[in-house]
Amino acid sequence: TLNPRTEASSQATADTEPTFHGAGLELVGLSMAYGSFDVVRNVSFTVRPGTTTCVIGPSGSGKSTLLRGINRLHEPKGGEVLLAGEKTSAVRPETLRQRIGLVFQHFNLFPDHTALDNVALALWKVKGMSRSAARARAEQALTEVGLSERADHRPRDLSGGQQQRVAIARALAMEPEVMLFDEATSALDPELVKGVLNLMAGLGRRGMTMVVVTHEMGFARKAADQVIFMDEGEVVEAGTPEAIFDQPQSARLQRFLSEVL
Ligand code: ADP
Ligand code: MG
Repeated sequence: TLNPRTEASSQATADTEPTFHGAGLELVGLSMAYGSFDVVRNVSFTVRPGTTTCVIGPSGSGKSTLLRGINRLHEPKGGEVLLAGEKTSAVRPETLRQRIGLVFQHFNLFPDHTALDNVALALWKVKGMSRSAARARAEQALTEVGLSERADHRPRDLSGGQQQRVAIARALAMEPEVMLFDEATSALDPELVKGVLNLMAGLGRRGMTMVVVTHEMGFARKAADQVIFMDEGEVVEAGTPEAIFDQPQSARLQRFLSEVL
Protein backbone atom coordinates (compact mmCIF):
# COMPACT_ATOMS: atom_id res chain seq x y z
CA THR A 1 0.00 0.00 0.00
CA LEU A 2 1.16 3.49 -0.74
CA ASN A 3 1.92 5.78 2.11
CA PRO A 4 0.86 9.45 2.01
CA ARG A 5 4.31 10.63 0.92
CA THR A 6 4.46 8.47 -2.20
CA GLU A 7 0.84 9.17 -3.03
CA ALA A 8 1.48 12.89 -2.86
CA SER A 9 4.60 12.59 -4.98
CA SER A 10 2.86 10.60 -7.69
CA GLN A 11 0.28 13.32 -8.04
CA ALA A 12 2.73 16.19 -7.91
CA THR A 13 3.14 18.09 -11.11
CA ALA A 14 4.76 21.41 -10.26
CA ASP A 15 8.49 21.18 -9.66
CA THR A 16 8.19 23.64 -6.77
CA GLU A 17 5.62 21.58 -4.92
CA PRO A 18 7.21 20.08 -1.80
CA THR A 19 6.97 16.34 -2.29
CA PHE A 20 9.71 15.27 0.08
CA HIS A 21 9.95 15.77 3.79
CA GLY A 22 13.65 15.85 4.44
CA ALA A 23 14.85 15.61 8.02
CA GLY A 24 17.43 17.76 9.73
CA LEU A 25 20.98 16.55 10.12
CA GLU A 26 23.49 17.68 12.70
CA LEU A 27 27.18 16.86 12.84
CA VAL A 28 28.71 17.42 16.27
CA GLY A 29 32.49 17.19 16.45
CA LEU A 30 32.62 14.33 13.96
CA SER A 31 36.06 12.74 13.66
CA MET A 32 37.05 9.92 11.33
CA ALA A 33 40.26 7.96 10.89
CA TYR A 34 41.75 5.08 8.92
CA GLY A 35 43.81 3.34 11.57
CA SER A 36 45.92 6.05 13.15
CA PHE A 37 45.50 8.36 10.13
CA ASP A 38 43.09 11.16 11.05
CA VAL A 39 41.09 12.14 7.99
CA VAL A 40 38.13 14.11 9.37
CA ARG A 41 38.78 16.30 12.38
CA ASN A 42 36.11 17.65 14.67
CA VAL A 43 33.61 18.62 12.00
CA SER A 44 30.41 20.34 13.14
CA PHE A 45 27.61 21.78 11.05
CA THR A 46 23.84 21.74 10.85
CA VAL A 47 21.74 20.94 7.80
CA ARG A 48 18.24 22.27 8.31
CA PRO A 49 15.34 20.13 7.05
CA GLY A 50 14.76 20.51 3.33
CA THR A 51 17.98 22.41 2.64
CA THR A 52 21.01 21.66 0.51
CA THR A 53 24.56 21.77 1.83
CA CYS A 54 27.40 21.56 -0.69
CA VAL A 55 30.79 20.35 0.51
CA ILE A 56 33.76 21.54 -1.54
CA GLY A 57 37.49 21.15 -1.10
CA PRO A 58 40.63 19.70 -2.62
CA SER A 59 41.05 16.03 -3.42
CA GLY A 60 41.99 14.10 -0.29
CA SER A 61 40.47 16.65 2.09
CA GLY A 62 38.12 14.06 3.61
CA LYS A 63 34.84 14.83 1.82
CA SER A 64 34.00 11.23 0.89
CA THR A 65 34.99 10.00 4.32
CA LEU A 66 32.73 12.60 5.88
CA LEU A 67 29.75 11.27 3.89
CA ARG A 68 30.68 7.71 4.89
CA GLY A 69 30.59 8.85 8.50
CA ILE A 70 27.16 10.42 8.12
CA ASN A 71 25.56 7.13 7.07
CA ARG A 72 28.09 5.04 9.02
CA LEU A 73 29.54 3.11 6.11
CA HIS A 74 32.69 3.86 8.07
CA GLU A 75 32.41 4.09 11.84
CA PRO A 76 33.37 7.52 13.22
CA LYS A 77 36.24 7.82 15.66
CA GLY A 78 34.46 10.46 17.67
CA GLY A 79 31.58 12.89 17.78
CA GLU A 80 27.96 12.38 16.84
CA VAL A 81 25.64 12.64 13.89
CA LEU A 82 22.00 13.42 14.65
CA LEU A 83 19.28 12.57 12.14
CA ALA A 84 16.00 14.30 12.95
CA GLY A 85 17.46 14.83 16.42
CA GLU A 86 18.20 11.14 16.90
CA LYS A 87 21.75 9.82 17.40
CA THR A 88 22.65 7.76 14.34
CA SER A 89 24.88 5.60 16.55
CA ALA A 90 21.65 4.30 18.08
CA VAL A 91 20.04 3.41 14.73
CA ARG A 92 20.62 -0.02 13.16
CA PRO A 93 23.01 0.39 10.21
CA GLU A 94 20.58 -1.21 7.72
CA THR A 95 17.83 1.15 8.84
CA LEU A 96 20.16 4.13 8.72
CA ARG A 97 21.18 3.40 5.13
CA GLN A 98 17.54 3.43 4.11
CA ARG A 99 16.94 6.72 5.93
CA ILE A 100 20.07 8.31 4.46
CA GLY A 101 20.53 7.57 0.75
CA LEU A 102 23.98 7.74 -0.83
CA VAL A 103 24.69 8.23 -4.52
CA PHE A 104 28.23 7.68 -5.74
CA GLN A 105 30.24 8.69 -8.75
CA HIS A 106 29.99 5.12 -10.06
CA PHE A 107 26.44 3.96 -10.10
CA ASN A 108 26.96 0.25 -9.35
CA LEU A 109 23.84 -0.93 -11.12
CA PHE A 110 23.25 -4.62 -11.74
CA PRO A 111 24.12 -5.00 -15.45
CA ASP A 112 21.70 -7.86 -16.16
CA HIS A 113 18.67 -6.25 -14.59
CA THR A 114 16.38 -3.66 -16.10
CA ALA A 115 16.22 -0.15 -14.70
CA LEU A 116 12.96 -1.06 -12.99
CA ASP A 117 14.41 -4.18 -11.36
CA ASN A 118 17.52 -2.29 -10.27
CA VAL A 119 15.24 0.02 -8.31
CA ALA A 120 12.76 -2.64 -7.18
CA LEU A 121 15.30 -5.26 -6.01
CA ALA A 122 16.31 -3.53 -2.80
CA LEU A 123 12.69 -2.76 -2.01
CA TRP A 124 11.71 -6.39 -1.75
CA LYS A 125 15.08 -7.66 -0.58
CA VAL A 126 15.90 -5.01 2.02
CA LYS A 127 12.55 -3.44 2.78
CA GLY A 128 10.61 -6.69 2.50
CA MET A 129 7.95 -5.25 0.23
CA SER A 130 5.94 -7.58 -1.98
CA ARG A 131 7.20 -7.77 -5.56
CA SER A 132 4.17 -5.99 -6.95
CA ALA A 133 4.35 -3.17 -4.41
CA ALA A 134 8.10 -2.89 -5.01
CA ARG A 135 7.56 -2.60 -8.75
CA ALA A 136 4.88 0.03 -8.27
CA ARG A 137 7.15 2.06 -6.00
CA ALA A 138 10.05 1.61 -8.44
CA GLU A 139 7.93 2.88 -11.34
CA GLN A 140 7.08 5.92 -9.29
CA ALA A 141 10.73 6.58 -8.42
CA LEU A 142 11.73 6.27 -12.09
CA THR A 143 9.01 8.76 -12.95
CA GLU A 144 10.41 11.14 -10.33
CA VAL A 145 13.77 11.12 -12.11
CA GLY A 146 12.22 11.39 -15.57
CA LEU A 147 12.98 7.84 -16.68
CA SER A 148 9.61 6.10 -16.73
CA GLU A 149 10.00 5.41 -20.47
CA ARG A 150 13.28 3.59 -19.91
CA ALA A 151 12.08 1.25 -17.16
CA ASP A 152 12.68 -1.87 -19.26
CA HIS A 153 16.17 -0.90 -20.43
CA ARG A 154 19.31 -2.53 -19.07
CA PRO A 155 22.15 -0.28 -17.89
CA ARG A 156 24.20 -0.86 -21.08
CA ASP A 157 21.33 0.55 -23.12
CA LEU A 158 21.21 3.73 -21.05
CA SER A 159 23.49 6.76 -21.16
CA GLY A 160 25.69 7.49 -18.17
CA GLY A 161 23.31 10.24 -17.14
CA GLN A 162 20.36 7.88 -17.34
CA GLN A 163 22.24 5.25 -15.34
CA GLN A 164 22.92 7.82 -12.66
CA ARG A 165 19.21 8.70 -12.65
CA VAL A 166 18.44 5.03 -12.02
CA ALA A 167 20.87 5.08 -9.09
CA ILE A 168 19.16 8.19 -7.74
CA ALA A 169 15.74 6.56 -8.21
CA ARG A 170 16.99 3.50 -6.35
CA ALA A 171 17.92 5.69 -3.37
CA LEU A 172 14.70 7.74 -3.57
CA ALA A 173 12.55 4.61 -3.65
CA MET A 174 13.66 3.90 -0.08
CA GLU A 175 11.98 7.17 0.93
CA PRO A 176 15.11 8.56 2.57
CA GLU A 177 15.03 11.53 4.92
CA VAL A 178 18.40 12.74 3.66
CA MET A 179 20.26 12.22 0.38
CA LEU A 180 24.06 12.28 0.14
CA PHE A 181 25.76 12.74 -3.23
CA ASP A 182 29.46 12.02 -3.67
CA GLU A 183 30.66 13.61 -6.91
CA ALA A 184 27.62 12.15 -8.60
CA THR A 185 28.42 13.78 -11.95
CA SER A 186 32.22 13.34 -12.03
CA ALA A 187 32.14 10.20 -14.17
CA LEU A 188 29.68 11.57 -16.72
CA ASP A 189 30.39 12.88 -20.18
CA PRO A 190 30.27 16.68 -20.05
CA GLU A 191 27.03 16.98 -22.00
CA LEU A 192 25.23 14.74 -19.49
CA VAL A 193 26.30 16.58 -16.35
CA LYS A 194 23.76 19.37 -16.50
CA GLY A 195 20.72 17.10 -16.67
CA VAL A 196 21.74 15.23 -13.51
CA LEU A 197 22.58 18.46 -11.68
CA ASN A 198 19.17 19.85 -12.65
CA LEU A 199 17.53 16.71 -11.30
CA MET A 200 19.43 17.10 -8.03
CA ALA A 201 18.51 20.78 -7.76
CA GLY A 202 14.87 19.81 -8.34
CA LEU A 203 14.96 17.32 -5.46
CA GLY A 204 16.28 20.09 -3.24
CA ARG A 205 13.56 22.50 -4.29
CA ARG A 206 10.98 19.80 -3.57
CA GLY A 207 12.04 19.49 0.04
CA MET A 208 14.73 16.83 0.14
CA THR A 209 17.54 17.41 2.63
CA MET A 210 20.81 16.98 0.77
CA VAL A 211 24.54 16.97 1.39
CA VAL A 212 26.30 17.24 -1.94
CA VAL A 213 30.05 16.77 -2.40
CA THR A 214 30.77 18.38 -5.74
CA HIS A 215 33.36 19.99 -7.97
CA GLU A 216 30.59 21.83 -9.79
CA MET A 217 30.97 25.30 -8.33
CA GLY A 218 28.13 26.65 -10.47
CA PHE A 219 25.79 24.10 -8.91
CA ALA A 220 27.03 24.94 -5.39
CA ARG A 221 26.47 28.63 -5.98
CA LYS A 222 22.96 28.16 -7.34
CA ALA A 223 21.55 25.21 -5.44
CA ALA A 224 23.21 25.36 -2.02
CA ASP A 225 21.72 26.98 1.04
CA GLN A 226 25.08 26.44 2.74
CA VAL A 227 28.57 25.73 1.44
CA ILE A 228 31.21 23.97 3.53
CA PHE A 229 34.85 24.27 2.50
CA MET A 230 37.03 21.44 3.80
CA ASP A 231 40.79 21.17 3.71
CA GLU A 232 42.93 18.54 5.42
CA GLY A 233 39.94 17.05 7.20
CA GLU A 234 38.75 20.30 8.73
CA VAL A 235 35.97 22.73 7.98
CA VAL A 236 37.93 25.84 7.09
CA GLU A 237 34.95 28.01 6.13
CA ALA A 238 31.18 27.60 6.08
CA GLY A 239 28.58 30.04 4.87
CA THR A 240 26.15 31.06 2.18
CA PRO A 241 27.27 30.62 -1.44
CA GLU A 242 27.72 34.40 -1.62
CA ALA A 243 29.99 34.45 1.44
CA ILE A 244 32.07 31.48 0.27
CA PHE A 245 32.45 32.39 -3.40
CA ASP A 246 32.40 36.20 -3.28
CA GLN A 247 34.05 36.86 0.08
CA PRO A 248 36.39 33.99 0.92
CA GLN A 249 38.14 34.81 4.18
CA SER A 250 41.00 32.32 4.42
CA ALA A 251 44.03 32.05 2.21
CA ARG A 252 43.28 28.33 1.79
CA LEU A 253 39.80 28.95 0.34
CA GLN A 254 41.07 31.80 -1.82
CA ARG A 255 43.76 29.53 -3.25
CA PHE A 256 41.28 26.67 -3.83
CA LEU A 257 38.83 28.95 -5.64
CA SER A 258 41.58 30.41 -7.79
CA GLU A 259 42.42 26.87 -8.90
CA VAL A 260 38.90 25.64 -9.64
CA LEU A 261 37.05 28.71 -10.91
P1 ADP B 1 38.14 13.38 -0.72
O1 ADP B 1 36.84 12.70 -0.92
O2 ADP B 1 38.00 14.78 -0.21
O3 ADP B 1 39.00 13.32 -1.93
P2 ADP B 1 38.72 11.14 1.02
O4 ADP B 1 37.74 11.18 2.11
O5 ADP B 1 38.47 10.18 -0.08
O6 ADP B 1 38.93 12.62 0.44
O7 ADP B 1 40.15 10.81 1.59
C1 ADP B 1 40.71 11.53 2.67
C2 ADP B 1 42.04 10.91 3.00
O8 ADP B 1 41.85 9.60 3.49
C3 ADP B 1 43.00 10.81 1.83
O9 ADP B 1 44.30 11.07 2.29
C4 ADP B 1 42.85 9.38 1.40
O10 ADP B 1 44.03 8.91 0.78
C5 ADP B 1 42.59 8.67 2.71
N1 ADP B 1 41.76 7.47 2.55
C6 ADP B 1 40.58 7.40 1.91
N2 ADP B 1 40.05 6.17 1.99
C7 ADP B 1 40.94 5.42 2.69
C8 ADP B 1 40.98 4.05 3.10
N3 ADP B 1 39.99 3.20 2.81
N4 ADP B 1 42.07 3.65 3.81
C9 ADP B 1 43.07 4.50 4.09
N5 ADP B 1 43.08 5.80 3.75
C10 ADP B 1 42.04 6.26 3.05
MG1 MG C 1 35.99 11.87 -2.62
